[in-house]
Amino acid sequence: MSGNRTFTMIKPDATGAGHTGKIIDKIIEAGFSIKAMKWTQLSKEDAQAFYAVHSERPFYEELVDYMSSGPIVAAILEKDNAVASFRDLIGATNPAEAAEGTIRKMFATSIAANAVHGSDSDENAAIEGSFYFSEREKTK
Ligand code: ATP
Ligand code: MG
Repeated sequence: MSGNRTFTMIKPDATGAGHTGKIIDKIIEAGFSIKAMKWTQLSKEDAQAFYAVHSERPFYEELVDYMSSGPIVAAILEKDNAVASFRDLIGATNPAEAAEGTIRKMFATSIAANAVHGSDSDENAAIEGSFYFSEREKTK
C-alpha cells in the first residue's frame, strides 16, 4: 500500500526568482496539506549528506554546489498516494520534457535548476523528512 506523505524542497532557483508563494499555492491547490515547512539553507556538507545516494553520479558535485548556493524551503506534505501524486504535479526532471501545467514546466530553468524536489519512494520520503524535521515539528 502506498503511503500518504512525501517530502519536497523548493530549490534555490525558485526561491531566488520569487516563485516560492506561487509554488506553495500550486501544491495546496493540488490537494496536499502541509505537515511541516521551513525556509533554510543547506551547507555544502548538508547537501552532500542529503544527496549521498547520488554520490556516484556525474552531476553530484554540481548538484551539491547548486543546492547549497541559496535558500530552500523544505516541507512534509500529505495526500493519498503522496509520492506518485507529487511527482505527477512537479513533472519530469528535465523541464524541457515536463508536461504542461506541471511545476517544473512553469518554474524550472534547467535540469539542475529544476525548481523543486520530490521524494521517489515512501521510504525516502520518511528519511528526507527526518533530515529536516524532528518528530515534534511534524503536525499530526
Ligand atoms: P529530485 O530528486 O530533485 O526530485 P528527480 O528525482 O526528478 O529530482 P534525480 O535523478 O533524483 O531526479 O536527480 C536529482 C537532482 O539532480 C535533479 O532534480 C536535478 O536537480 C539534478 N540532476 C539530475 N540529472 C542531472 C544532470 N544530468 N545534470 C545536472 N543535474 C542533474
Ligand atoms: Mg530524485
